[in-house]
Amino acid sequence: MSDVQHWRVTYNDIHNLIRKATPKIVTEFNPDLMIAIGGGGFFPARVMRTFLRETTENKSLQIQAIGLSLYEPLPGTSQEQIGKEVVRTQWLSPNPGKLLLGKRNLIIDEVDDTRKTLHYAYTELLKDVEEELLSYPEPERAELRAATRFAVFVVHNKNKPKLAELPPELPYYAGENVEDVWLDYPWEALNIEEHDRLAALDKEKRVS
Ligand code: 5GP
Repeated sequence: MSDVQHWRVTYNDIHNLIRKATPKIVTEFNPDLMIAIGGGGFFPARVMRTFLRETTENKSLQIQAIGLSLYEPLPGTSQEQIGKEVVRTQWLSPNPGKLLLGKRNLIIDEVDDTRKTLHYAYTELLKDVEEELLSYPEPERAELRAATRFAVFVVHNKNKPKLAELPPELPYYAGENVEDVWLDYPWEALNIEEHDRLAALDKEKRVS
């Protein structure tokens, strides 16, 4: 990992990227439910809710959490699974499909790297919707399906070949498109002042 270039990102960087991205999301998608992918999507979702509540009528916008892991070794995860498969650690409950049906659902994560996590989240949430639709009479399903929409927001999208695809028609928003570097997020730092100091130096280097 030492040969991979690292970029440190600060809380303020993230806050400002979300502030800039939100108006377009409001105009084009106007979410009425946020699905944060944990743990990196939690802070971005919470910050975006502040801006969404400010600019929309929806003052009770909810954040639901799902837990997915691709990189972290979890107890019971074999070496082969780590980095290859998405592992589900937490999901919507008690009835995921019911929660999603008829809503404009915005899936939020901090970074889109290989895209495997986002692909997993989207396809599994869609399956939940399809399962829920089965409890409705056939003639009502098409209308309900059409009313259930998804979009994705990530703070950073890495410009690199992806290992999974999202449908081209799925609205996709990124705070910033970055090179294929490793991003060090502030919530991973043990010493936030040192993290911010080094982040400022990183920025100077990138500008010069
Ligand atoms: P993907 O499934 O797109 O490959 O990866 C998504 C997950 O991998 C992210 O939610 C995050 O947990 C982790 N990840 C990928 N790239 C980075 C990175 O540059 N920095 C950090 N801190 N985590 C990353």
